[in-house]
Amino acid sequence: MPERPLRAVFVCGTGTDVGKTIVTATLLRALRTTGVAAQAVKPVQTGVKADEGLTSPRADAPVYAQAVADIHPFPALAPAAALRCFALPVSPHLAAAAENAGLSASGLCADIRKHWRLHKTADMLLLESAGGLCSPLNENEDMRDIAAGLDIPLVLVCPNRLGTLSDLGCALAAIGEKGLSLAGLVMTRSFPVNGDEVETLILEDNLNATRARLADVPVLALPYFPNFVWEDMAGLLAPLVEKLRIAIRAPLEENDLVRRDRKTLWHPYSSTLEPPVLNVASRSRGNRIILADGRELVDGMSSWWAAIHGYNHPRLLDALRGQAGRMPHVMFGGLTHAPAVELAERLVRRMPEGLERVFFADSGSVAVEVAMKMALQYQQGKGMAGRIRFLAPYGGYHGDTLGAMSVCDPVAGMHGLFARALPGQIFMERPRCRFDAPFDPASLDDARRVFDERAEEIAAVILEPVVQGAGGMWFYHPDYLLGLAQLCRAAGALLIFDEIATGFGRTGRFFAAEWAGVRPDILCCGKALTGGTLTMAATACTEEVAAGICADGRVFMHGPTFMGNPLACSVALASLDLLEENHWRTQVACLERQLEQGLVFCRGLPDVSDVRVLGAIGVVEMCCSVNTSVLQGYFVDKGVWIRPFGRLIYLMPPYITPADDVARLCAAVTEGIREGAHLP
Ligand code: PMP
Repeated sequence: MPERPLRAVFVCGTGTDVGKTIVTATLLRALRTTGVAAQAVKPVQTGVKADEGLTSPRADAPVYAQAVADIHPFPALAPAAALRCFALPVSPHLAAAAENAGLSASGLCADIRKHWRLHKTADMLLLESAGGLCSPLNENEDMRDIAAGLDIPLVLVCPNRLGTLSDLGCALAAIGEKGLSLAGLVMTRSFPVNGDEVETLILEDNLNATRARLADVPVLALPYFPNFVWEDMAGLLAPLVEKLRIAIRAPLEENDLVRRDRKTLWHPYSSTLEPPVLNVASRSRGNRIILADGRELVDGMSSWWAAIHGYNHPRLLDALRGQAGRMPHVMFGGLTHAPAVELAERLVRRMPEGLERVFFADSGSVAVEVAMKMALQYQQGKGMAGRIRFLAPYGGYHGDTLGAMSVCDPVAGMHGLFARALPGQIFMERPRCRFDAPFDPASLDDARRVFDERAEEIAAVILEPVVQGAGGMWFYHPDYLLGLAQLCRAAGALLIFDEIATGFGRTGRFFAAEWAGVRPDILCCGKALTGGTLTMAATACTEEVAAGICADGRVFMHGPTFMGNPLACSVALASLDLLEENHWRTQVACLERQLEQGLVFCRGLPDVSDVRVLGAIGVVEMCCSVNTSVLQGYFVDKGVWIRPFGRLIYLMPPYITPADDVARLCAAVTEGIREGAHLP
């Protein structure tokens, strides 16, 4: 039986003493008189001893009770509740510290959810914050994090006076920063209007300007009432009450995103007739993905190699916001900008020496297309127009566009379906020598054979260095790359490294090419380039390749609309900063150790054919294909996000994952296999 979705709003002020409690009490009355079983709840009540609770005259509860004292529509549901009380009448973080207690948004959210579960007759909770919008809960969190953790809208309370528009501007920016939504805004008065013309002008303008700014949000005013006539006040909040009532009346299916998704959407590698099992993600934070029903999952996937710093990293979000304010995008034809120039320079500095020219693309697959086109144009420029084929190992994966698909594994890969429509490429044995075994020179024999037979046709060799990702999570010996590079050079073929998955530290080296000390002619990167926040990739080549393409007045023929997108470049720069400062080397080395320790018990389990770990990648290979949706469901029940495919159950957590969470991921994998959750 799925949990009843939490229905709540968070009543918050632009500051303290702005009339939140009066607004909450008025809303409580207005909702109850229109048939909504609402309850006003203080998640944190300061200035009240724990044993006094609701009875203290300093608590807000008596005000709530007073607002509904003359109406009794819901006798079984108390009008008010307070979940945690602290005696000192100060900001929650101080009040809690004075009693040697700590507060966290996740702890308070858990309290609120529990309260909601216990009070089954409540239709809606009005959660009143303690203090203002940004009053701290602890060093890192404030009131907004409660609303964010519960994924509920705000009702913002703001006094109407000189300075309101400035306060409100700051409050709205603070709300936007956390991605919160506003259900309504209520302007309050704590003293009477003196009737003077200037004051009237200010108050009216505050209201009109705010209504114009927040077009879809009810912006209401409560005038100064020396003696509260609750009924009159409640009437003034009618538009907001109507909005909240609609949210409650909406049948559950209306909000059932999965049902709506199934009608209109397509998911990766899926059928519309037999749609995949879906979980609704509503928020993310650090190494956690938070589902719409409030469950928090430990992320083991970094969203397909990308979110290396975890989610919502404040530095990445700041970079995005800053650039969004300056210039989100301009075309790259005929224009340039600092984020693109800086990013290209920094990538060149980090890449194997000799890769000096960067082309920005919009996704990994496009970066691969760009690399292939570079190789073809280079060979044409050299008068080798007959070199139109690419040589790739079996087990490779390079993306889903037609050119990229043509160099993916033609048999076991995902693109066998299109084989006849794709350009015919040449394939060789996969690099079979394990990463952790002594190098076997015979593993290059097949490459040598192909070059002997077909060198004249080959424009370039393309492969993923050291780790073949989606084609089998296979780790092979770096010396293979050394030998291959020599064969390429001797045969006049370019060497392309696809580092879209392996780049930015994942294998324990910044680029996997460094394991072999080989500099390819062309290198593609993507995924973690923007720390997993925006789609962007890059293809870099040597000056020699660039010169070959552009000799005799030729140009390179590619130019995506969103090339060099400034938002993506800025966030990529911030991600590179974090990589340096966060000591990725140490982080990845720790993850490697923890994954090894955590997955070691899988080795002896039935159905397991291999366990391997490299850098921040842990792989358990099974003897047979696993049932992805069943196993994924098992993992979600265990509170972890792991998405197996084929015979592989693998982990590549964000670099910032704490040791406890790595242990949870590994335990879930081990237990899942032990319990047979992988069986069809
Ligand atoms: N190359 C490799 C090695 C990849 O792992 C991927 C993505 N899984 C791609 C290319 C394609 O990247 P994108 O999905 O961004 O198009």
